Formats: sequence, structure tokens, C-alpha cells
Amino acid sequence: MQQQASPTTTANHSAFAIFQNNSPVLPIKTCLCGEEHLFWECQYLIESLKPYRWVPNKKIQQRINEKLIRYERLAVAVKRV
Ligand SMILES: [Zn+2]
Repeated sequence: MQQQASPTTTANHSAFAIFQNNSPVLPIKTCLCGEEHLFWECQYLIESLKPYRWVPNKKIQQRINEKLIRYERLAVAVKRV
């Protein structure tokens, strides 16, 4: 009889863990919006960070949208959040 060793699956609480443990997926030091913060700290990218009645800068929003098209991987990561 063999005992099945169950693989220790660490719950994937958030996609951020992946980014923290490995080198960043994208060679971006500055956020897509032009500010110096991580993209998961960005109000433009992370829906839940948007303050109530916050109005995004249209220019910045458009710039981000264009970059998101280019960086499909980032777009996927953002959607997962
Ligand atoms: Zn940003």
C-alpha cells in the first residue's frame, strides 16, 4: 500500500505573491500612469483602489490603455486582482 503524499499547496491568496518572489514580470520601473509606484498600487489600474468619486485623468487613462494593449501579460495580471 502506498501512502499518497499530498503536495503542499500554498493557497494562492493573491497574484502579488508571484511578483514578490520573482523578478518583476515587466521591465517597468515607473507605473503606466507615469507615477513612481508599483502598478498594483495604482488607482488607474486597480479598480478597488479608486477613491469614491475619483475622476481619472483622461490623458493618463488613455496612455495606460495603450500600454495595456502592448503588455498583455500585465493586462491579465491586472484583471486577476
Ligand atoms: Zn500608477
